[in-house]
Amino acid sequence: AADEGFDVEEVEGAIEEAGHGPLPVLAVVGRPNVGKSTLVNRIIGRREAVVEDKPGVTRDRVTYEAEWAGRRFKVVDTGGWEQDVLGIDASVAAQAEYAIEAADAVVFVVDAKVGATDTDEAVVRLLRKAGKPVVLCANKVDGPSGEADASYLWSLGLGEPHPVSALHGRGTGDMLDRVLEALPEAPRESFGGGIGGPRRIALIGRPNVGKSSLLNKVAGEERVVVNELAGTTRDPVDELIELGGVTWKFVDTAGIRKRVHLQQGADYYASLRTAAAVEKAEVAVILIDASESISVQDQRIVTMAVEAGRAVVVAYNKWDTLDEERRYYLEREIETELGQVAWAPRVNVSAQTGRHMEKLVPAIETALAGWETRVPTGRLNAFLGELVASHPHPVRGGKQPRILFGTQAGTKPPRFVLFASGFIEAGYRRFIERRLREEFGFEGTPIHISVRVRE
Ligand code: GDP
Ligand code: GDP
Repeated sequence: AADEGFDVEEVEGAIEEAGHGPLPVLAVVGRPNVGKSTLVNRIIGRREAVVEDKPGVTRDRVTYEAEWAGRRFKVVDTGGWEQDVLGIDASVAAQAEYAIEAADAVVFVVDAKVGATDTDEAVVRLLRKAGKPVVLCANKVDGPSGEADASYLWSLGLGEPHPVSALHGRGTGDMLDRVLEALPEAPRESFGGGIGGPRRIALIGRPNVGKSSLLNKVAGEERVVVNELAGTTRDPVDELIELGGVTWKFVDTAGIRKRVHLQQGADYYASLRTAAAVEKAEVAVILIDASESISVQDQRIVTMAVEAGRAVVVAYNKWDTLDEERRYYLEREIETELGQVAWAPRVNVSAQTGRHMEKLVPAIETALAGWETRVPTGRLNAFLGELVASHPHPVRGGKQPRILFGTQAGTKPPRFVLFASGFIEAGYRRFIERRLREEFGFEGTPIHISVRVRE
């Protein structure tokens, strides 16, 4: 009875597609104006990463999903910013460093018409140090006459330059074939869970919410916070910290410490760092300054973690400063502004006084448990059967679409595929998600539900 009109291959295909693990990450790096954003637009096949001529434009998004030749991966776009107080070399180095750190492979874009500059050479040194697979993109080769320019780039010592016109699409297919060869099937650090080493935590939040204070508090030591130029000192990027008798890996703690005060593009660096940290982590602890109104920037950070499919804990910091009135308004704001993570465990902490620090680890453990939950197919279908019987989908055009059966295709986060006899409306999908959460928990984790309709 299981396949009710779906053939086995179709069902298996849908389950495999929905159950994919974390996607490998490709970073696109290079100097300003070499065509990184244009290339990213080509790769993702949309005009989403808007190409801007204005310097210092802040982007909400730096990570996009892409697919080439049937393989899916993520792309980190480092375009859309300009030189800041650091000066050109250091700025390029800083952004490239963050992106390379989070990536499984890198596309290094050089303007073939200009040739290799000193700044390009500086990125080459970073790439060598990182040791990640690199595909060299010789951009702005708009026609055959530019091919000679591309061949000069052999001198960078990164192997074959791929002549490309990101603007017109020339050569991008061949280059992407090479990218797929360079890109591993799965991210280099697969998700642990007992045997995979320490669990990875990203402590994220907008500037001044108290990330470094919290890290110092939980690590039980005052850390030296120094101003240092990005790329000049090797700080430890990930840090092992023992909490509640367990060792955890806090990823990208260098990003939490104060670096040089960036002016232009500071928000952009912050988003890039957050995206990179989230990519590397299994669970995101999102810190919110409870003493201030919840902002659009807080919401963006929450969205990043949810869209990346990470387990989430929300920690409201600076609780020591709250009076009764602020507490009242905070609760209203949480309801209206942070509905997208209503399922996340919440802790009200003070990095200053140490209030409720002991609640952090249990919250993280709860979120990771939700993230890894697997519902056996039998239980899921018993639940779906009852749900459909007691709350059928509304009749549309004389027909009543039904959920026929379902299965959980994957975990981390939980992914479900439901098979239906007709189109299932968004409202009913949300209802199913709500009921799934009521029934099975999933505290602290986004869940994905895809619906397949019988043709
Ligand atoms: P980014 O700063 O590296 O992200 O560079 P952009 O993608 O914003 O591109 C900078 C400028 O170069 C824009 O005016 C693009 O239209 C132009 N550009 C990008 N790719 C090409 C290309 O393949 N050929 C030509 N002729 N121009 C390009
Ligand atoms: P980051 O930019 O997110 O790393 O934030 P910091 O840890 O540098 O903290 C920003 C400011 O908030 C500093 O002045 C901290 O002393 C202060 N701060 C951090 N946590 C708390 C807290 O729980 N209570 C109070 N009152 N101040 C805090």
